[in-house]
Amino acid sequence: MSEIHGLAVHAAGAQLLPYKFDPGELKPYEVEIKVSHCGVCRSDIHLIDNDWGISKYPFIPGHEIVGTIVAIGEHVRSLAAGQRVGVGWQADSCGMCEWCRKGEEHLCAQAQPTCVGRNGGFADKVRVNSRFAIPLPKALESENAAPLLCAGITVYSPLRKHGVNPSSRVGVIGIGGLGHIGIQFARVFGAEVTAFSTSKDKESEARELGAHNFVNTRDTGALKKVAGSFDLLLSTINADQDWSAYISALRPNGMLCLVGAPASPLQLQAPPLIGGQRAVCGSSTGSPRDLHEMLDVAARHEVKAIIEKFAMAKASEAVSRVKKNQIRYRAVLAT
Ligand SMILES: [Zn+2]
Ligand SMILES: [Zn+2]
Repeated sequence: MSEIHGLAVHAAGAQLLPYKFDPGELKPYEVEIKVSHCGVCRSDIHLIDNDWGISKYPFIPGHEIVGTIVAIGEHVRSLAAGQRVGVGWQADSCGMCEWCRKGEEHLCAQAQPTCVGRNGGFADKVRVNSRFAIPLPKALESENAAPLLCAGITVYSPLRKHGVNPSSRVGVIGIGGLGHIGIQFARVFGAEVTAFSTSKDKESEARELGAHNFVNTRDTGALKKVAGSFDLLLSTINADQDWSAYISALRPNGMLCLVGAPASPLQLQAPPLIGGQRAVCGSSTGSPRDLHEMLDVAARHEVKAIIEKFAMAKASEAVSRVKKNQIRYRAVLAT
């Protein structure tokens, strides 16, 4: 019998407590991974608190996992024991529906999140379908790569999907866990990058990360000055905004893409959408294929998350600091 030991929450908003379970026999298409690092994502906090009403207790959070394969199911051919892999938000999908067949497994109606109805990476080991264990390029350090598996893919996918290229003008709204990686990837795609933030003191760091321009959104006139400027605005923030002002900041055919979820409904005027053929859309994480590509691009262009490292035993402290927005920019647990 193989036991998995981790830190679990037993009820909405509860503390992480030591927890062990017997995962049973390894399924034919699964791999078992010995966890070395796991990022703490804001979605883990939402799951801990059951903000989305989908949490199943008890569960072990953690879906930005890096580790080494220690066992493979009998039908797994693509991976071998000893390989270093990463796992993100998703651990399995049906493999047969329209979306799975198209290589868009993250859109599968039966997608299984890594830590909803399953146990995630705040643990010594984790099991996932082998299709969702992505080999990590050598050049990536485990601790900086872990947050790429959720935060990284979340900002990479829309840049890729909406055809960002060297003539594009991209704005990244919010310089936090997502935004600081979004700026780096947008720069890698060759775009002219503008960082939007409420804190003026983030300007120099935004520029170091690759931003060409900085807009202080506390300055009400500043957004007006950039009217008609952007092909893509990537919003990483959860706070309500003057969305009309951002729509006005788009060029014709421009797109406002939300990866952060503000609490209130969006207030929008139709004419600027119609006249300039502008659009508002959302983007979730990405498929295994997207993850492979994103990790390869990150390795080649030295994109990495800026992290604060915690021992796995200090997971509670990391979670509470993420909750209070005290981390610049991602917390990563190391076993
Ligand atoms: Zn499917
Ligand atoms: Zn996440």
